[in-house]
Amino acid sequence: MSAWMNAAFVAACVLLSCATPGGPARDTCSPRIVVALDAEGRPTPEWLDAIRDRVDADELAAIAQTPKPLSTDEAAWRDLIGEGARGWCASIPRLTAPFRHVTPPRQPGILLGNQGGGDGFTREPDDVAIDLGEMSRAYANMPEAARRALIPRLLSHEYTHLLLHRWMDATGWSQESVADDPFLRALRTLFNEGIANYRSVDHERWVGAGGVLTQHARETLAALQPVMIERLQGLAAHPSAEDAARLLRNISQGPLERKWGAIPIALWLAEDTGGDPDRLAAWVEAQPGGILELAVRHADPQYSPGFARLLEHARARASRRH
Ligand SMILES: [Zn+2]
Repeated sequence: MSAWMNAAFVAACVLLSCATPGGPARDTCSPRIVVALDAEGRPTPEWLDAIRDRVDADELAAIAQTPKPLSTDEAAWRDLIGEGARGWCASIPRLTAPFRHVTPPRQPGILLGNQGGGDGFTREPDDVAIDLGEMSRAYANMPEAARRALIPRLLSHEYTHLLLHRWMDATGWSQESVADDPFLRALRTLFNEGIANYRSVDHERWVGAGGVLTQHARETLAALQPVMIERLQGLAAHPSAEDAARLLRNISQGPLERKWGAIPIALWLAEDTGGDPDRLAAWVEAQPGGILELAVRHADPQYSPGFARLLEHARARASRRH
């Protein structure tokens, strides 16, 4: 492992000198890549800290005691991520550009483990975390070329969350601040996961040159729009906790084709901005209360009036909070 880590550091930190915006203080990019397992394969305290909010206390204690050295496939993912870090490093200025009022991570890092995490998640404030066990399970049959193509999109998605979390915390949209209001939670998720998934759909399967949506993207939108409008209308009508949990299901979980909230927003962002960072910045600055304007502009005409009513409702609810 240490030999590999040395190799990763050479690859990611020494040979690379990726420019980042913001002047001389941040003129180099050197992602820290840490395989957070000890010599016996137990997770290190850094990994346990990263997964603390994702598992219950008993599970966390069990994971802490369980040696699980990397499998062959997990090690292959580790190596591919080490290589993919180069492209991600180079793309960081592009990823941060739409966040004009956010100070980005000073030293973004990649934390790798193999128990208790998700395929990609964040360890605040500066790290992207990846559970290699989840990668191995979720993408078991994926050919190597597709794995290589997936890695930069995954890293970019999670890095974008680091920026979004800073922005939402600074503008009154923290996770805690919307916890007791299902409709505001939904708006926050549309914003947070929609913009992060905009980086996930940066692929020829979804978006062509200039933000033109593919046939697959248009079919996915056609299937998800009625779900999105029905779920949001239900969430706006002060549902019980049980109904809210049902309505929020799959807003951003499961395969991309089923994420009824995140994927329409991501695809409409691609269509609306054509990749222009200033146009994306305007959506970031509109905050979760304004994100449904995308739906009003880009949804099928039959759904536009419904989305317009939801946007009005979102703006009224958001303004009452501030
Ligand atoms: Zn996400």
